[in-house]
Amino acid sequence: MSARADELAADLDRVRQRLAAAEAAAGREPGSVRLVVVTKYFPASDVRLLAGLGVTDVGENRHPEARDKKAECEDLGLVWHYIGGLQSNKAGQVGAYADVVESLDRPKLVARLDRAAAERGRPLDVLLQVSLDGPGAGPGGSDGGRAGAEPDDLPALAAAVEAAEHLSLRGLMAVAPLGEDPATAFARLAALREPFVRDHPGATALSAGMSGDLEQAVAAGATHVRVGSAILGSRPATH
Ligand SMILES: *Cc1c(COP(=O)(O)O)cnc(C)c1O
Repeated sequence: MSARADELAADLDRVRQRLAAAEAAAGREPGSVRLVVVTKYFPASDVRLLAGLGVTDVGENRHPEARDKKAECEDLGLVWHYIGGLQSNKAGQVGAYADVVESLDRPKLVARLDRAAAERGRPLDVLLQVSLDGPGAGPGGSDGGRAGAEPDDLPALAAAVEAAEHLSLRGLMAVAPLGEDPATAFARLAALREPFVRDHPGATALSAGMSGDLEQAVAAGATHVRVGSAILGSRPATH
């Protein structure tokens, strides 16, 4: 194996052990939390090595980087999660290739993603990204900077997705705010997920937890964790 392959294998193994320990500590079934490896800023050759190590799901946050990498890795049969801020004018392009869009956070994106899914002839799974920042933290929506729908806006957003013929509502996604104990933030997420799943029984996915807080996310019921730097190393400092 190449040095890079050895490095990825060792780091992936460490993260898998952390995940297994977090599942056990939370009384969750072994293997019940899905690992989405966030490969943004890293080359398609890393994605290929990761697939060889058994990774099934990858996350990307920038278009067209995500599109190009997926095209290079089409033969690997991976599930591609788009986890980045969605500019309105790019949503249609992302909807053309993503398997899951985790960052749907405003009604304007629904029709664009729905049309893209119709055109490609395959339904698109979506998660609603919810802001855990609390009211008064500034305007939501990626066009304005911060991402994530306000919790109060989730019911209307969910209804819009359910009314879209080519979109499948699968659950919620969130990022713990900087500067707050992630356990506290994820407890709020777990509380708002309860009524959400009651109203949308097919939308049980909960994507939460990254390199620094996957344990807290699993304890709060995450079904998917999105881990980048703990496996691939640090990204360029500008991001
Ligand atoms: C980059 C990113 C991650 C991965 O973050 P790490 O701290 O590198 O694990 C997870 N979720 C989202 C939305 C991201 O943009």
